[in-house]
Amino acid sequence: MQEWALKRREHEEKIALVPTMGALHEGHLSLLREGKRLADHLVLSIFVNPLQFGPAEDLKQYPKTLEKDLNRAEECGVDIVFYPKTGDMYPKDFQTSLDLGALSKPLCGAARPGHFQGVATVVLKLFNIVQPNVALFGQKDYQQLRIIQQMVKDLNLPVEIKPMPIVREDDGLAMSSRNRYLKTDERQAALAISLSLVKAQSLVDQGEKNVEALVKTVHATLEETKKLKVEYALLCDPKTLDPLKTLKLPALLAVACRIGETRLIDNCVLR
Ligand code: AMP
Repeated sequence: MQEWALKRREHEEKIALVPTMGALHEGHLSLLREGKRLADHLVLSIFVNPLQFGPAEDLKQYPKTLEKDLNRAEECGVDIVFYPKTGDMYPKDFQTSLDLGALSKPLCGAARPGHFQGVATVVLKLFNIVQPNVALFGQKDYQQLRIIQQMVKDLNLPVEIKPMPIVREDDGLAMSSRNRYLKTDERQAALAISLSLVKAQSLVDQGEKNVEALVKTVHATLEETKKLKVEYALLCDPKTLDPLKTLKLPALLAVACRIGETRLIDNCVLR
């Protein structure tokens, strides 16, 4: 992979990379279509990265739909699918990983210790292997995107990070590979998540400036259904991810919930 990539770069051809864990949906495809537009060569990586899963998480069950993924990749004009084996990415003597700072501590970082360290480590490896000029990341994983932007800046990586908007189902549910875990009633309950974000924005539109009041409405909307357990619902600075005490727009509203065994995240930038 790296040999191919270095050859392309030698010829000044542009490479776009879309890193994924597979089980592709329209969210992933939107990144691929934009990647196709931005570069001469489009690389899709599919790797379920064990480093970013905690011991009690869904590494073993994570959906695998390789045949379908390959068809979809082809439809989007992907030139190369990089689909490494775990042992190739992490041979037995693998021992180096990244130490992250403040951006990795709040929100999902608090609930999933080591998660972002695993993400950053694999993304840095993918950047070195695929040598992309541009890499595309969804705002669905807002904290991940911020951590990668910071890593690129801090470590002077020669890659442009292109953030991409959240793709949603018609009823508002943010697309996620994990949505397929949801039973029918859970899928229905999950709609409260995007609804809570919409409600918060409309309160802001009506002039609400109080952080506590906004967060209270979000919690109330989420907790209307007993099926849904709120892990966090927080307003933060969209750049630093520090919690907001007073409302300053734009503000990131980030939510993580559990529905049964399934953990879902969503967010919006309130304006
Ligand atoms: P994943 O396969 O879940 O690791 O996601 C791979 C990439 O797709 C990440 O950059 C995600 O942020 C992005 N992504 C996942 N879901 C969505 C979505 N609903 N809309 C936009 N991007 C997404």
